[in-house]
Amino acid sequence: MNKPIPYGRQHITDEDIAAVTAVLRSPYLTQGPKIGELEESFADYIGSTYAVAVANGTAALHLCCLALGVTEGTRVITTPITFSASANCVRYCGGDVFFADVDPDTVLLDPNAVRKLLESHPQGYFSGIIPVDFAGYPVDMVAFRELADEFGLWIIEDACHAPGASFVSETGIEHRAGDGLLADLAIFSFHPVKHIAAGEGGMITTNNESLYKHLLRLRTHGITNKPLEFTTPYADEPERGGWYMELQELGYNYRLTDIQAALALSQLERADTMLDRRRELAARYDLAFSEAASAGIPVQIIVPPAGVGHAYHLYVIQTLDRKELYDFLRTKEILAQVHYVPVHLMPYYQNLGGKPGDFPNAERYYAGCLSLPLFPTLTNEEQDYVIDNVAAFFKSSR
Ligand SMILES: *Cc1c(COP(=O)(O)O)cnc(C)c1O
Repeated sequence: MNKPIPYGRQHITDEDIAAVTAVLRSPYLTQGPKIGELEESFADYIGSTYAVAVANGTAALHLCCLALGVTEGTRVITTPITFSASANCVRYCGGDVFFADVDPDTVLLDPNAVRKLLESHPQGYFSGIIPVDFAGYPVDMVAFRELADEFGLWIIEDACHAPGASFVSETGIEHRAGDGLLADLAIFSFHPVKHIAAGEGGMITTNNESLYKHLLRLRTHGITNKPLEFTTPYADEPERGGWYMELQELGYNYRLTDIQAALALSQLERADTMLDRRRELAARYDLAFSEAASAGIPVQIIVPPAGVGHAYHLYVIQTLDRKELYDFLRTKEILAQVHYVPVHLMPYYQNLGGKPGDFPNAERYYAGCLSLPLFPTLTNEEQDYVIDNVAAFFKSSR
């Protein structure tokens, strides 16, 4: 058994290492052929038409906000139970973040709470929604699309936790997180704790061609070699040399390197196997804790209904003894974690008006949540050690 046992860990194989070293021996270290290969394979895996590789998930969110025109005063709604980047991206562009509460049964942004917020303001007050597939549980994107259409909003799906997640709509259609059918844009992260590791890295998926082209330009400074008509004295076709390029708007250097792309591409080949293992481990936890519950062990778990393909980035239990359990597990070298401190209560967002009591479901969830170790290389033996220690904690604390 490898101790300590973290809540998440990357899995690097000899094939991954070979893929990376092959790039190091090649002529391209950044934005070479691996980027296009990764984008094509990722779009294929997710089921979207287009994919744009970027430096990290946060950069992906930032570029999405820019492409959708978020600017000073633009109002955007997101969930308090997420990594802060889901909200920060709006602030990068000068926009204002509004939160709405989560559904306690799923811990996902509650479409009914969003509707209430929308209906309490004039039409046109808000511009967009950023729902998050928290822990890997895909949001009900059909409900958000309906809201978006009714109130004239765009949707960025933060699918960092959910590559491979899916759900079946009431009309029987299967949707995959980020497939571009309902959300305008979706974003993913290749941080090592996420499903696919590239060191750092991110991806945007979409079915919208004009957003896609805009994102490609924003990713490299806003510079392009395809000139707007006659915008500089040098853009005119007969005068233009092969070197010619022009800055058309303010973009960023948010490129991914070929080194990272090769690693992500190699990992992507195992995505289904790794997802299956996450689901298998989650099912083992489910079994252990539902049996334990009947034996009087007070942990609450979230078991999605049939038709929901959870991607299990995190396995979260809820207990009234969270702090004591967290500390106890540390003494056993089990590094459980908490996801997340509600974003509206972060000092930065409190300074912008957030305060305790704003979102009772989110705050109640936070008070009891604990993410147990879950990653594809976690062995059954290691997982049993985790389960046994959770059980031992409750036995000794009574
Ligand atoms: C990881 C994560 C991000 C940011 O991704 P980075 O690649 O770390 O920048 C954004 N949103 C959520 C929900 C995440 O988990």
